[in-house]
Amino acid sequence: MTTTTAPPTAATRTGATPYQSYVYAYPHKTAYRPLPHRPTLDSLWAAEPKDAVSLYLHIPFCEVRCGFCNLFTRIGAPDGLTGAYLDALERQADAVREALGDGDEVRFATAAFGGGTPTFLTTAELERLCDIAEHRMGADLRAVPLSVEASPATATADRLAVLAARGATRLSLGVQSFVDSEARAAVRPQRRADVESALGRVRDARIPVLNIDLIYGIDGQTEATWRRSLDAALAWQPEELYLYPLYVRPLTGLSRRGGGPDPAWDEQRLRLYRAGRDHLLAHGYTQHSMRMFRRADAPPHGADDYACQTDGMIGLGCGARSYTAALHYSFDYAVGMQEIRAIIDDYVGATDFSRAEVGYSMDAYEARRRHLLQSLLQAEGLRLDDYRARFGGSPADDFAPELTAFGALGWLADGDPETLRLSPEGLAHSDAVGPALFSPAVRAAMAAYERK
Ligand code: SF4
Repeated sequence: MTTTTAPPTAATRTGATPYQSYVYAYPHKTAYRPLPHRPTLDSLWAAEPKDAVSLYLHIPFCEVRCGFCNLFTRIGAPDGLTGAYLDALERQADAVREALGDGDEVRFATAAFGGGTPTFLTTAELERLCDIAEHRMGADLRAVPLSVEASPATATADRLAVLAARGATRLSLGVQSFVDSEARAAVRPQRRADVESALGRVRDARIPVLNIDLIYGIDGQTEATWRRSLDAALAWQPEELYLYPLYVRPLTGLSRRGGGPDPAWDEQRLRLYRAGRDHLLAHGYTQHSMRMFRRADAPPHGADDYACQTDGMIGLGCGARSYTAALHYSFDYAVGMQEIRAIIDDYVGATDFSRAEVGYSMDAYEARRRHLLQSLLQAEGLRLDDYRARFGGSPADDFAPELTAFGALGWLADGDPETLRLSPEGLAHSDAVGPALFSPAVRAAMAAYERK
């Protein structure tokens, strides 16, 4: 198999910059471009397997804009905007469901409400959101894993009761830090007492999986304060914990801190990562990726980040992506507040949702890269027999320069001839491994993207 491969970046060769970017989806939306022919959704989905599609509904509203956040979301919603947004979601759901066809073969295997903050919606609006997923799209929310993101202030008992009754199996709470001064430094002002109350309400709602997000690398954070946050989280025995390194990204609240190389900050983040990982491993958690840890005795849950590997995904809402095997598509993307508000307003006013507007065409070469990248970033790694069955050949043939460079840095584990897996140090450098696997075309498109 012939492939064109990019040489790993100098930073990757030396391992000097461990925090290049979090690759939660490949390609990143900054590589998407307006699709000249605006293909119809029914043509895109006609030949796709539709028996295990993932469903994602995006709610782009938050009470505050956290300083580290570059997600597609706005602060607050003027009167009536959330209702108008749900009206648009309904119109989009109807169009998408029509494009998928009415046949029995359409089945949703997982569902997720993300954002933004889905619990920014009122209880009545959350009921409507569930109705859209169930009645318009045909997802059986009580039969599939349903994951919902929430913030402490919006995780109220009445909202959680609605979500639990409608079938939520996982509630992910963005805590970031249990130390009030660190929460302020990350521009997410909140009081620990309020966070603890929110966690109590989530446990009272008896949603089976609680995930807590924490961040390391905040100004002033030490190993001792990091340990304090970890222990505060562990006291709730969450089924899952995500540990995120802090990033400073253009156009976000923290970007005034600057974005150049900062070896001392890299060193702080690596040190806190290792301390956090070791602490969670010692407390009965299993590491599933650089960020994701699961309590060893937690019930299995299907809708974690590994689900991103499946091709079929329907995203509804103006910040959501959809994937077929041949095309990843979405609406326009922005990080700046003005632009986000304009895109949400356009979405709310739209009546025609029958076509894909912005996207990136996937070919066999990009599909192999995506599979390698997303498998390698999971602790369990990539099964070579699975790769052979999907694509023929082996990653060692298709991606020799990259894998050789990772091997030379000690980032690949030895020992299992049938699995390609990162070593613990490789996993610690996941945010350098991922970008080093971007194709030249994706890299060029991302470099040419004009931030807005
Ligand atoms: S981190 Fe979460 S709560 Fe904070 S602004 Fe971003 S989406 Fe909203």
